[in-house]
Amino acid sequence: MSLLIIAGPAGVGKGTVVARLLENDPSFTLSVSATTRAPRPGEVDGVHYHFISKAEFESLIGQNQLLEYAVVHGDNYYGTLLNELTRAEANDQTLVVEIDLQGARQVKAIIPAAISVFINPPSWEELENRLRNRATETEVQIQTRLGTARDEIAAAGEFDYQVTNTEIDQCVDQIIELVQKEDRGS
Ligand code: 5GP
Repeated sequence: MSLLIIAGPAGVGKGTVVARLLENDPSFTLSVSATTRAPRPGEVDGVHYHFISKAEFESLIGQNQLLEYAVVHGDNYYGTLLNELTRAEANDQTLVVEIDLQGARQVKAIIPAAISVFINPPSWEELENRLRNRATETEVQIQTRLGTARDEIAAAGEFDYQVTNTEIDQCVDQIIELVQKEDRGS
C-alpha cells in the first residue's frame, strides 16, 4: 500500500500540483474527501469532494468510515474515507491525500509508511497574492486562511519532505522523484 500525503497552506497551489501529478503519472489516484462545505462554482460532487451534510458526516464518524477527519478553517468538517484506501490498494495505485496539517498528522500516526510532503510558497507575499487573486474567498475568509497558513508553515518541519511551488512542473517532478526514491527503498 502506498500513500502520499500532500499538505500546504491555502493558496499554495496544492490542487494544481496534485492535478498535474495525476495527469503525469497514472500510478497515482486522488482520494476524494468528504466535506460539509458547500461546493464552489465548477466543483462536482463525487469528483472534487463528496459534499454531504453535517449529520451525514457525523454518521460516517460514528460508523468508523473515516481514516481521519478535521474541522478546517474553523467551520467545516473534512475527512478521508477509508474506502478510498481500499480502492487504491485494489488497483495497486498510490493514494494521494490532499489534506490539512491536522489530517496529515493523523494519517502519519496511523500509517507511518505514508510519505508526507509539505508544499511551501516561494514567499509569504506570493502566497497572499495567490490567495487574493483566486478570488474565491471573502476578505474575512482570506484572513482566516492566512492565519492557518502561518501555523501550517511553522509545522512544515514535521513532514518527510518539503518542496517549494515556484514553478509547477518542477514541483511535480520533485514529488514524483521522491516517491520513486522511497519506493526503491533508498
Ligand atoms: P478547500 O475548502 O479550499 O477545498 O480545502 C480547505 C482545506 O481542507 C485544505 O487545506 C485541504 O487540504 C483540506 N482538506 C481537504 N480534504 C481534506 C480531508 O479529507 N481531511 C483533512 N483533514 N483536510 C482536508
